[in-house]
Amino acid sequence: MFKMWWEIKGHLEVKNNKLYIGGKSSEYLAKKFGTPLYVLNINRVKENYLRLYYSLQKYLKRQLVILYSVKANSSLALLRVLKNLGAGVDAVSPFEVFLAKLSGFDKEEILFTGTSVSNEDMILIGRKAKINIDSLSQLERYAKLAKRYGFDKKISIRVNPEKGAGFISDCITAGKEAKFGIPKKDIFFAFKRALELGLQPIGLHQHIGSGILAQDLNIFLKAAEAILNLAGKLKKKFNLEFEFIDLGGGLGIPYKSSQEVINLEKFGKNLGETIEKIASKANLGNFDLYLEPGRYIVGDAEVLLVKVVDVSKKYVNEIGVNAGFNILDRPARYKTYHEIVNASRVKGETKLYRISGNLCESGDVFNETKYKLRKLPFIKEGDILAILNAGAYGLTMSSNYNLRPRPREIMIDKNKVKIIRERETFNELIATQRR
Ligand code: PLP
Repeated sequence: MFKMWWEIKGHLEVKNNKLYIGGKSSEYLAKKFGTPLYVLNINRVKENYLRLYYSLQKYLKRQLVILYSVKANSSLALLRVLKNLGAGVDAVSPFEVFLAKLSGFDKEEILFTGTSVSNEDMILIGRKAKINIDSLSQLERYAKLAKRYGFDKKISIRVNPEKGAGFISDCITAGKEAKFGIPKKDIFFAFKRALELGLQPIGLHQHIGSGILAQDLNIFLKAAEAILNLAGKLKKKFNLEFEFIDLGGGLGIPYKSSQEVINLEKFGKNLGETIEKIASKANLGNFDLYLEPGRYIVGDAEVLLVKVVDVSKKYVNEIGVNAGFNILDRPARYKTYHEIVNASRVKGETKLYRISGNLCESGDVFNETKYKLRKLPFIKEGDILAILNAGAYGLTMSSNYNLRPRPREIMIDKNKVKIIRERETFNELIATQRR
C-alpha cells in the first residue's frame, strides 16, 4: 500500500487507516491520557542517538562525545535515558544545569554555553558544569569569580566563525549578524587574555545554527575544517593542549516531504576523515570531539496529539482544536511547516482546512500561516489530529499564555507507556502570585 512520507517502521505507522505511535493507537492514547498530549517514543530517541554516534565514531581515531542540547527538550525521563546511552549535556541556563545534575550527569559531562551571561549565572553554575566563554566581558568577569570562589581555571571559548547556516535567519548563530561567541578576529586576543588572567583554555567551541539540512551540510563541514585549522594555530601560538573541540549542534530533520533526510553515513565519513586529516597535520593531539545535537535526537521522536473540538464553515473550513501556540509555538513563531495527520482517518477524500488553536490570537494556527490552507482527509468533531516532529523546541518553548496549562507528556518505552509530565493545574499556574 502507498506509504506516507513520514512513516517510520516501529515508530509512526498506519494501521486500518489510523495512526500508531510506537505500536500504540493514537486514539487509544488520546482517550486514556487526555488531550492535548505530547507522546514521546523513547525507542526512536535511542535509534537517533546511536545512528548519529556510530556513523561518526567509526571514522574517528578519538572519542566522540555527544552533548545533548537540553533546550530542545528538557524532560527528566529523556535526560536519564540519554545519560544511560553515554551522552553528556549542553546547557544554556543555570536551571538547565541543575536539571542535568538532577538527571545524574556530573560536572565533567555538562558544558554550560550561555549568552549575555551575568555574574549571578556564573555563580549559580559554579562548580556544577564546565564553562564555555561567550564574550571578552564574560572572560574578564569569570577570571575574577574563579579567583574569588575557587572555580575551575579550565575553560572553553566559543568562537563565532563568521559563516552560519540554519532553516531561517533567526536560527543562524554565526556570522556578523549573530550575537553569539567571540568574533574570529578577536580569538587570538581572547586566548592571550585568558592565559594572562591565569585561566587554562582547554576547549574551543562553535555552533553555526539550527535546522541544517542536506543542502547546507557543506557549510557545516567547512566550518568544522575552519575550527580545526584555527585550533591548530592557537595550539602552536600558545602551546596549548586542547581537551576538546566542539562543533555544536544544528543537524536538521525533514519537516515536510520535499526536505531530504541527512545521509548520515556520508556525512559521518566526510566529517570524520576531514577531522582526522587536519588533526594530524596540525598536530592537535588527542582531543575529544564534541557535538551538541538537540533537534536531531528528539525532533521526530515526539508527536503532539490534539482533539478537534469545533468544525465550522466560516470564510474557510475552520477546524478548532484544543491546543494553541502556547503548546507548540514553532508554526506561529517561525512560520514553519509541521505535518498534520488526521490520526483518526489518515487517508481519504481531502479538503482544504485551516487548523486553528484555542488562543485569542489571529496567528494562532498550526498551518504555516493563516493564509496557507492544508489539504487533509475529511475532519469531523472528536477526531484526533497528530502534529508530527514536535519533540524539539515544542514543550520547551511552551507557555501559559491565555492562562492555558501545559499538557501532559507520556513516554512509550518498548511496549510500556508511562506519564512523565503532568498537565498543569490552575493552582500551579498561579502559585507564584501573591494573593
Ligand atoms: N548548541 C548550542 C550552543 C545551541 O545554541 C543550540 C541551539 O540553538 C544547539 C547546540 C542545538 O541545536 P540543534 O537543536 O539544532 O541541534
